[in-house]
Amino acid sequence: MILSKLTRLLASLFIVVLCATIAHADALAKLEPKKLAAVHQAVEALRAEWKPVARIGPYREHRANLHVHSHWSHDSRGTIDEIVAAAKATGTSVLMFNEHPAEHYDFFKEGHQGIKEGVLLIPGAESQGFLAFPTLSLRGVKPDTPQEFSDLVRGRGGLMFVSHLEERMDWNVRGVTGVEIYNTHADFKDEKKMLAALRNPLWLLQATEMFRKYPQESFSALQDYPADYLKRWDELCATAPHTGVSANDAHQNVGLIIRWGVGDKARIEDALGKLLIELDVASLPGSDELRKGKQVGDVLLRLLLDPYENSLRHVGTHLLLTELTEKAVREALEAGRAFVAFDWLANSTGFDFAAVADTQRHEMGSQLVMTRGLALRGQAPLSVHWRLVRNGKVVEESAGRTLSFPVVEPGNYRAEAWLDISGERMLWILSNPLYIAPAE
Ligand SMILES: [Zn+2]
Repeated sequence: MILSKLTRLLASLFIVVLCATIAHADALAKLEPKKLAAVHQAVEALRAEWKPVARIGPYREHRANLHVHSHWSHDSRGTIDEIVAAAKATGTSVLMFNEHPAEHYDFFKEGHQGIKEGVLLIPGAESQGFLAFPTLSLRGVKPDTPQEFSDLVRGRGGLMFVSHLEERMDWNVRGVTGVEIYNTHADFKDEKKMLAALRNPLWLLQATEMFRKYPQESFSALQDYPADYLKRWDELCATAPHTGVSANDAHQNVGLIIRWGVGDKARIEDALGKLLIELDVASLPGSDELRKGKQVGDVLLRLLLDPYENSLRHVGTHLLLTELTEKAVREALEAGRAFVAFDWLANSTGFDFAAVADTQRHEMGSQLVMTRGLALRGQAPLSVHWRLVRNGKVVEESAGRTLSFPVVEPGNYRAEAWLDISGERMLWILSNPLYIAPAE
């Protein structure tokens, strides 16, 4: 096979580079066929144990992906057709776009919106540290401060989430809707060895078969527990309710393209078409086979490491909606009626975390007052390791499909559900908090 010939040649030529990049224990260490196969098997095994759970309460659950970029953003070429196809393949029915604003278009007026093939599209921007979902065009708006920007959007009923918390842990913007409690790109940025490897086209070529065989496991190898994000979120929730959402930061812009260039050159480009190296095309191993039936200008090989399907499946924000409309989505996010799940591990549909007393039920995000007999109840479609967090500290750990905890102290309570995957305990689900105030 062409690829294995390429692999052998490149592996021998660049053995020094490989040794330098592989022998380190960050996410790169997970990018080995044996380890990925074991993760794949563990995920498959969970499917057999998965049991549907009926949702209690009046709401319907819909999976959303926030912080999605398309061709409107300078760093993506994604078409709406391929993004909607990826949404459908991953059980997503709400796509919330956060394009990088630019002079040549108005993200609010021209951005993706409406219903397309059953998927609800909501336009927004990634702007000045926020995920903004305004209710009016922001064209020409140049606020002086984050607070001013947030006040403007919030004052007209829009949603504002603080984005990329790792860059703004010290922000105290009043009145925002909430914060990203996980951002895929932030998770990726701290994998220094993996980043170095992915920037090396020669390493990518030798790893092509592995990425093709385990696309989701390879992508999701970057997942870490977002401890710094959650610590900051808990602090912010102590001041006022902040809805936690996950940010896919999906661009589909990591990978490699080999194109047959003029003058019989092979152009090795990144996923957006930027030239990385140029070689004589004849020097590519298996060059004749690669070029068979192709002509100058054609793509000889394409490897995408973050296709929309894999980045959208990795993590999602599940919303409890009255109906599938933009108005209902905005209302659920405002109320914190949502949970975040790494659905690549297992389908989290049906997860629940609520406060109950007598016949009263309070959904995630609710603000309530301590009452006698108040209890927290959780359920999941798999047996999980539960961690109950109160005001940023773990107060209870248990195992099973359900969680039950009598509330004796007020505080902000949120639940985490973890799964054991191939010898590693991994975060699966993060609930939004229940904000329980003292009785007087
Ligand atoms: Zn982004």
